[in-house]
Amino acid sequence: MRCEVVAVGTELLLGQIVDTNSAWIGEQLALAGIDCLFQTKVGDNFGRIEATLRQALERSDAVIVCGGLGPTQDDITRDVIAEVMGAELVRDDELEDRIRSMFGSRGRFMPENNLRQADVPVGARVMDQMPGTAPGLICPVTIAGEEKVVFAVPGVPWEMQEMVAGTVVPELRRRMGETAVIRSRVIRTWGHSESGIAEMLHDRIVELDELGNPTLAFLASGADGLKVRITAKAATEAEAEKILAAEVDLLAPILGGFVFSIRDWSMEQEVLDLLTSQGRTLATAESVTGGLIAKRLTDIPGGSSAFRGSVVSYASEVKFDVLGVPEGPVISEETAIAMAEGACRVLGASCAISTTGVAGPEEQEGQPVGTVWIGLCIDGEAEAHRVHLPGDRSRIREFTCISALHLLRSRLLAGG
Ligand code: ATP
Repeated sequence: MRCEVVAVGTELLLGQIVDTNSAWIGEQLALAGIDCLFQTKVGDNFGRIEATLRQALERSDAVIVCGGLGPTQDDITRDVIAEVMGAELVRDDELEDRIRSMFGSRGRFMPENNLRQADVPVGARVMDQMPGTAPGLICPVTIAGEEKVVFAVPGVPWEMQEMVAGTVVPELRRRMGETAVIRSRVIRTWGHSESGIAEMLHDRIVELDELGNPTLAFLASGADGLKVRITAKAATEAEAEKILAAEVDLLAPILGGFVFSIRDWSMEQEVLDLLTSQGRTLATAESVTGGLIAKRLTDIPGGSSAFRGSVVSYASEVKFDVLGVPEGPVISEETAIAMAEGACRVLGASCAISTTGVAGPEEQEGQPVGTVWIGLCIDGEAEAHRVHLPGDRSRIREFTCISALHLLRSRLLAGG
């Protein structure tokens, strides 16, 4: 089964939006064992979309077209598909009712243009999922006597994702005669490079290359850590899950303290969970991160049971006056420790993390860009660690957040 993706939208060509849809679809197809040979971007132009689609259909068995299914005049994907199928567009009464009732239930006026979305090429099927008003279409096409298929899905990422996961991938796998189940699990790590992690897992990688199932993939995800994704294929979901669980049990101990989640949770989710299970509360005192750690912690719903709050002590006087840091150089071990102790005291928490450092672009207090002190205070015991982080200002700040949370997590697991 050769498949390809065509992303429609002039904004994609102008760089106004990044084509994350094709990347996401590519990943899903790879996971499902479906070859994706080309990904093309084309503007909202009838002739050029038609030429792109015809070329894709000549060399592939299935084409996923995303975007251009909306109600406006430049949304012409369905017209082009009808042309390529050599079919009329006919209004589907059931779809028309659904679109009208969607607007009705939200109490909104429906511009007549929206009913264009109920037009379906004769011979095409409508996908079951309908998260927005644009329905996804499954369109059989015969090219030089060969049966091919075009899947049309909306450009809005979450609508597209629901349809690709719910209909397109299962349909493609069915056409391949594939009945096996594919499942993945992700182990997240922090503190080691991709090559370092690969080296630790070298022996197992060699074994798995021979076995062929499960497979491993590494995904460097910036301040979300380095992900090790395990993918298993089996006859049933239960069997696939069993293979995954056994592989996680094998790999996690090899990776040891670099692992922060074996359930694809973010560092902040894992830290909040651990704090809650240990009955502890956390405060942050943030200089170089300016509240980013607090933001990450408060992005998680329900975090307030463990997270007390943050003092964004960016100016030195705030460190001195609010947190009780002794006057002196602020990018230092003493300051990081005093900030963490101050945060515990001022915010009434049993533990705290603090950050003070140089995010750049200029050096500070004679310290180079990337120098960061992370302070920790757990049950009155304080310490600080210096790290040197790479990258620009934003990367240094993001990496400081995850490094600080990782340090806290490791200490909490080690018993404070
Ligand atoms: P709708 O009817 O829901 O508007 P549509 O099929 O007409 O769907 P588009 O108008 O092409 O979709 O795109 C809608 C929005 O979806 C765009 O403004 C953009 O934010 C996002 N989008 C479209 N294509 C992509 C893409 N390839 N990658 C990421 N986002 C995209």
